[in-house]
Amino acid sequence: MKILVTGGCGYIGSHTCVELLDAGYEVVIVDNLSNSKKDVVKKIEKITGKEVTFYEKDVCDKKALEKIFEEQKIDAVIHFAGFKAVGESVNKPLMYYRNNLDSTLTLLEVMSKHNCKKIVFSSSATVYGNPEKLPITEDFPLHTTNPYGSTKLMIEMILNDLYISDKDWSIAILRYFNPIGAHKSGLIGENPNGIPNNLMPYIVKVANKELKELSIFGNDYNTKDGTGVRDYIHVVDLAKGHIKAIEKVIKDKGVDTYNLGTGNGYSVLEIVNTFKKVNGVDVPYKIVERRKGDIDACYASTEKANRLLNWKAELEIDEMCKDSYNFVKHNK
Ligand code: NAD
Ligand code: UDP
Repeated sequence: MKILVTGGCGYIGSHTCVELLDAGYEVVIVDNLSNSKKDVVKKIEKITGKEVTFYEKDVCDKKALEKIFEEQKIDAVIHFAGFKAVGESVNKPLMYYRNNLDSTLTLLEVMSKHNCKKIVFSSSATVYGNPEKLPITEDFPLHTTNPYGSTKLMIEMILNDLYISDKDWSIAILRYFNPIGAHKSGLIGENPNGIPNNLMPYIVKVANKELKELSIFGNDYNTKDGTGVRDYIHVVDLAKGHIKAIEKVIKDKGVDTYNLGTGNGYSVLEIVNTFKKVNGVDVPYKIVERRKGDIDACYASTEKANRLLNWKAELEIDEMCKDSYNFVKHNK
């Protein structure tokens, strides 16, 4: 089975390629390297001892995509390619709508033409907005608060409409919670350019003395210790969820949506304290104002993925904190 992985050089894509290769799939990556580096391909090959076919192309480039489908017999696609920074999407909405929607529409048109109708799509828990209760199940009302989230919701709608129009499609929409951690080898992980927006990449840079201190955005939330609560999931567990989703779309037609999280909520302070403890490092912090748009708490019900995909996250928060730091130490 040959899987096309769009955005396969990125954080979640690269870990998923490793799991796909380990599970015996052939992997073709298409990535324009707008937020990743080419050496990731070599690192995936080094970890797995298997070869990857790589196309440095933009998924919005229809001709290039057509050529890939002509050259490779693609059985199914995992679509990671897209921009993902919430703040940037507020300042550059057109860039976000253009890239995330255009890449998906182009991909779906080319897939249709080549009669390849099996796709796993990267959505996000951001489509739940500020949930009224917890844990979040897949049937909760959807509501977005920024252009990035809106692109995810629009693509979910496009995929649902596509299935209504053509029942030959097999579509799995995966709503990720907060992926952190890295591969045990320390070869691949999350490496954002500039000052990170997300919690874990910021913590590792503080621990590494590249940044002075962490700003904790608010300690007056309605949570156990006042700081924001999220469902952090190890990226390797998340990657394994994609293997289950690919097995499902290969087997069954239809469109379905699954939360991929652990089902546990951790506060910012719990993450900082666990990180300090397991890595034996200091993470100085100060409490600052809330970040606009942030919610108190968010964690998944994972019952559906458990039941229908036979998948469950296994790695604990200690492991997530250790592996995040291990990657940075390897890549100083
Ligand atoms: P990433 O930025 O590390 O990976 C995305 C990859 O796609 C990058 O390698 C980038 O170069 C590539 N890319 C972007 N636009 C492209 C295009 N037009 N053509 C070809 N390649 C293109 O991001 P990630 O964290 O690995 O996220 C993967 C997917 O999961 C994204 O769609 C993201 O929105 C979604 N997601 C991520 C998170 C998270 O916290 N990381 C949470 C929920 C959903
Ligand atoms: N957070 C923080 N300081 C930072 C980055 C994030 O206190 O520098 C908090 C944020 O308010 C939220 C949690 O950490 O409660 C997770 O934030 P992240 O941006 O990683 O994920 P998201 O908010 O998208 O779930």
